[in-house]
Amino acid sequence: QPHNSTQSYSLKPIGVVHSCFKEKFAIPRQPALAPAAKGEVEFYPPYNDPMAIEGLEDVSHLWLSFIFHQAMPKDDEVRLRVRPPRLGGNKKIGVFATRATHRPNPLGLSVVKLDGVKNGRLQISGIDLLDGTPIVDIKPYVPYADALPHAINAIASDRPVLSLIEFEPDVLIAVAEHEKRLEQPVKELIEQMLAQDPKPAYQKPDPERIYGVKIWDLDVKWRYQKEGLLTIMSVSLA
Ligand code: SAM
Repeated sequence: QPHNSTQSYSLKPIGVVHSCFKEKFAIPRQPALAPAAKGEVEFYPPYNDPMAIEGLEDVSHLWLSFIFHQAMPKDDEVRLRVRPPRLGGNKKIGVFATRATHRPNPLGLSVVKLDGVKNGRLQISGIDLLDGTPIVDIKPYVPYADALPHAINAIASDRPVLSLIEFEPDVLIAVAEHEKRLEQPVKELIEQMLAQDPKPAYQKPDPERIYGVKIWDLDVKWRYQKEGLLTIMSVSLA
């Protein structure tokens, strides 16, 4: 076959993610940063067949290939450079040097923990995926080939610096109730998610302003006491 740069290829989702994250804001920038972030993969026919996942009981982690369905490129849009949040959100680097969501083909890749299979759905954690994310492929993580302890990325060399999270006392009571009802580690999820401070790095915290985000069926609201210290003001049914 001759090479042909105008040839296009189409992908069909094999499934969809049901995730604790209901909006893009405040989702961790990479998987594994929030182990309490959970979800499931529901398979579409004909892949909703136990045969397609035979053998996964021997695997602890998965690579998920997915579509950034809420960051689809516009027709003819060309973005060669992007502003990754890592660099404060105001310095540009080449799109292929980043994990930015806006890319020529809106394909994402996340390594996640496989906690089990329930009703034919993969139970996954440590996710950085929005609810409704279309999955186009799943591959097992292969430690001897995929874990490269000496690899270098000087742009994103360390885990992000973590902020401190405090809860108002009555909020802790509400959180405990929601944890029971949802059977989910809501407090840990809020801590892990917000410790990474979702606010753009160049934005100074305004102590008067209330920030909010949705996880599961909850509205989480917080304020900045100062840079690096967040207080959770309320956690209530959305
Ligand atoms: N680990 C993946 C990768 O490297 O391809 C994703 C990295 S990307 C920087 C992570 C961000 O993608 C999250 O913080 C979230 O805001 C965004 N995101 C997650 N799922 C998305 C979706 N379905 N559509 C658009 N943006 C999404």
